[in-house]
Amino acid sequence: MYEKREKKPSGTKPGTTPLSELGEFGLIDRLTRPVQRYHSETLKGVGDDAAVIDTGKGVILLSTDLLIEGIHFDLTYTPFKHLGYKAVVVNISDIAAMNGIPKQITVSIAVSSRFPAEVLDELYAGIILACEKYRVDLVGGDTSSSTHGLLISISILGTASREEVIYRGGAKPGELLCVTGDLGSAYMGLLVLEREKKVFQVNPVMQPELTGYDYQIGRQLKPEARTDIRNLLLGLGIKPTSMIDISDGLASEILHICKQSNVGCKLFEEKIPIDEHTRELALEYNIIPTVTALSGGEDYELLFTIPQTDYEKIKDVSGISVIGHTTAPSDGKYMITPDGKSVPLTAQGWDGMQDRTRG
Ligand code: ADP
Ligand code: MG
Repeated sequence: MYEKREKKPSGTKPGTTPLSELGEFGLIDRLTRPVQRYHSETLKGVGDDAAVIDTGKGVILLSTDLLIEGIHFDLTYTPFKHLGYKAVVVNISDIAAMNGIPKQITVSIAVSSRFPAEVLDELYAGIILACEKYRVDLVGGDTSSSTHGLLISISILGTASREEVIYRGGAKPGELLCVTGDLGSAYMGLLVLEREKKVFQVNPVMQPELTGYDYQIGRQLKPEARTDIRNLLLGLGIKPTSMIDISDGLASEILHICKQSNVGCKLFEEKIPIDEHTRELALEYNIIPTVTALSGGEDYELLFTIPQTDYEKIKDVSGISVIGHTTAPSDGKYMITPDGKSVPLTAQGWDGMQDRTRG
């Protein structure tokens, strides 16, 4: 899960490994390498958007996410109702990324005594609203006190047939890379909210200047999960070969697909869908618009690959963009800029990103 507000690590003892050296995915790899599997029903464990468990009739998809105050959300500008809604949606998004149908969630919270019951009512109003919108049953959870702050952990179950499940690892060289919706707006929404928070801290009587940024702020505070894509693709007669949801930024998610599928990629910068106003806003903030899409995260759109032969079926579908293609693994992982330069893709965006001043 994407962590955008993590503080710099303090010193660690000699001979020990600072977490910053491993990074999130390095740490997960290190911790889960010794994990054994005891049940043949476990078709997929760690390493995808959800675990896949065979029931004999179909599969259960299982995923979990943890949200922590001060790391994943800031209560100075996040309404509790939005927070509850988003906490459910990010889990539903992981089921959508497996091409499954979300069914049940459990919700666990740890709350400090600084919160009155009324704000938790609001949190649950958001949770229940998301359950209603996505037709998901809230079936349990756990409640605890916390020393300070709020922590929300949601687990989700989804279903699919064995054939329907789409993994991160199914792409082959020479397939099309596609993305739903547009990218980068959630990140720009976060920057607008952070800017207004700073203004407010300096001068508490100032009213926040949030008008005109509704789309970006909405994408940040109240994202939606693309559960509609399953049926859209079914109707088009397309079954993606791999799929992932975009929680950490396009670059990081493309690299996950490349790694798990053992393919390379060519991503065409000019094909990346970015909302026009988000583009302008990024430039105002002195950020290359492409960076908001590649590294921003929290868009909760879907990234998937399809065979070249499906191009005719998808090329005119509104809300889906073909942004590049996969290659042989030895061809590397590159973004092609509008002036034809190949730049290596990295989890942070691309190599040399900081040197580029052009919009
Ligand atoms: P996503 O962004 O789709 O929610 P993550 O990047 O959080 O997925 O996690 C990647 C994979 O690692 C998932 O399969 C997840 O279940 C697994 N994972 C994450 N943290 C842990 C952990 N502490 N122990 C075991 N597995 C983990
Ligand atoms: Mg995911």
